[in-house]
Amino acid sequence: MNRASVGIVVLSALMVSAGAEAETCPATLPSQIRVMDCGLATSVADVLTRSATFKQLVEGIAALNGIVYVVVEPTPRVHKTALGVLSHHVAVSGNLRVLRIVVRQDRGDAALATVAHELRHATELLEDPAAQTDAAVAALFARIGVELAPGVFETNAAIVSERAVFRELQESRRRPRLE
Ligand SMILES: [Zn+2]
Repeated sequence: MNRASVGIVVLSALMVSAGAEAETCPATLPSQIRVMDCGLATSVADVLTRSATFKQLVEGIAALNGIVYVVVEPTPRVHKTALGVLSHHVAVSGNLRVLRIVVRQDRGDAALATVAHELRHATELLEDPAAQTDAAVAALFARIGVELAPGVFETNAAIVSERAVFRELQESRRRPRLE
């Protein structure tokens, strides 16, 4: 992608909440990824057949005992210009950690690459067993990321994942789907 980095992590404490919409959406996703917008859920199900990097990210979330909710908000409250954010608020339930991603757009390869970017941040969080509180998550990203603004961090790995997924989605139109 030629754009500057788009997704960022924002220090915030959004609550994880389930919406009714996903319950009636025909899209089938692995249980660790809960997309609360049916259009985006349908796209994510499709991406899992087209991007090996995206598939690995989703499988990694499950392996790390994570559950990630993905919510679409045209204007994320936590940051005015980011295309996506990972909330630093972690809900702990037994050995599971429940995270929340907010993305601005619900369609197109760039939007899906943004989801991948934030899933990479979710992976970074889940890879740190101590990341169970807002403060511990902030400390983690301060340690592994670059602070773009107070409480706003970026990591190179997330940018790499985002670009890889975008490229794979573009290339997937020229070859058969993954199995
Ligand atoms: Zn980021």
